[in-house]
Amino acid sequence: MNASTQKKENMKTLFLLNHHSKLLLRLTELEVAMSTIKSNLIEASQSQTKILQDCLDHAVEQKDLDINIDLLERYTKERWKILNALDRIKNGTYGECRECGEMIESKRLLVHPTASLCMECQNQKEDCTRLDTAFIQKTDPSNFLASIILKNAEVA
Ligand SMILES: [Zn+2]
Repeated sequence: MNASTQKKENMKTLFLLNHHSKLLLRLTELEVAMSTIKSNLIEASQSQTKILQDCLDHAVEQKDLDINIDLLERYTKERWKILNALDRIKNGTYGECRECGEMIESKRLLVHPTASLCMECQNQKEDCTRLDTAFIQKTDPSNFLASIILKNAEVA
């Protein structure tokens, strides 16, 4: 191995270590935040009967509940992305676009360390996601809280 290859390898290791520790740090933050939200949600769902007795209180609490669920959903997605990125570091594919196989722009990875698509593939995907989101918003969300609590109870 010549000096320039060696230098390149060292840079790559440093790059991976840097992203690895950043991802682990965020993972810990997320898990702490998620367990707090989960216990808040379970507590709130247990006191819902009581809450229903007062319509005004109910409106307020329901709003808090919605915010918590949104956050929990966002954190769950982010946690999943981080675990995926850590897997890719482990199997040596971190930084490669999973669609076209090209290296993801390093500036992009600095801002989005969990990115698994290059800018070009991401933009193509976003066009499809917009259609999916429009569809999901039209479906009935009435059992959403119950499903979230059940899903998280299984994980815990
Ligand atoms: Zn790509």
